[in-house]
Amino acid sequence: MKDVFCRIIEGEIPSNKVYEDDDVLAILDISQATRGHTLVMPKAHYESILDTPKAILHKVYDVAQRIAQAMVAELGAKGVNILTNAKEMAGQTVPHFHVHVIPRYMAGEGGFMIEMKNNEGKEDLPLLVAKITHGMD
Ligand code: AMP
Repeated sequence: MKDVFCRIIEGEIPSNKVYEDDDVLAILDISQATRGHTLVMPKAHYESILDTPKAILHKVYDVAQRIAQAMVAELGAKGVNILTNAKEMAGQTVPHFHVHVIPRYMAGEGGFMIEMKNNEGKEDLPLLVAKITHGMD
């Protein structure tokens, strides 16, 4: 079954378009975490950042940066969160790669950062570095 973003891209479902070119679409999120919360996605279907080709990734993040800059310049945002969830375990609910651009206006609007666990001293940090670098292409 087609995901909701594929259906929006194909014009089957309406959306509030913020930006569009041949490869990238940006729309307002239907549930606005803050005023202007926007989703930037490739028109081609990739499930998450994990399987998106780099050339497409760069185009999506280029648009995300430009939208973030516009939020600061035009909406009066004092900061911006730019984030993506990859896979259900990380909170991804729509399996079509997208980047959230969330303007921030004031303290206490809620946090988007995972609360840091205090694991100091409990992890073998050099081993973690070795494993991650081994897995990078
Ligand atoms: P995520 O949980 O990272 O996969 O984010 C999916 C986002 O898509 C959520 O913030 C939803 O509010 C948003 N969303 C779902 N359906 C629509 C839709 N039809 N139009 C705009 N945003 C949507």
